[in-house]
Amino acid sequence: MADVFHRATDWEIVNDERIFRISWDDGAVSEYEWEAMRRACPCAYCAGEGAFAGSVNTETKFSEEQTTLKMVYPVGRYGLTPEWGDGHDTGIYTFKMLRRAAGLP
Ligand SMILES: [Zn+2]
Repeated sequence: MADVFHRATDWEIVNDERIFRISWDDGAVSEYEWEAMRRACPCAYCAGEGAFAGSVNTETKFSEEQTTLKMVYPVGRYGLTPEWGDGHDTGIYTFKMLRRAAGLP
């Protein structure tokens, strides 16, 4: 079976709820809490790469600035990059990963 590849058609930063909302091409809508999203940052610095364990884990305490979502930029046709309040913007969140995190196929 081919892997169905879904894309985000629209997204919205909801400041007063501190969530990020994505609308998908199949009509699904998913929401992500900013702090959980920051913790899941897949960049090499946060998540690690090779022998480097990464600097973020379940114990990491974030400041409010670090978990404030300022902007979100599209990356090619396969993902999104958030820019956080502290300027961190190296994580590429693929649509695949965002769908999986939301429990969507
Ligand atoms: Zn990161």
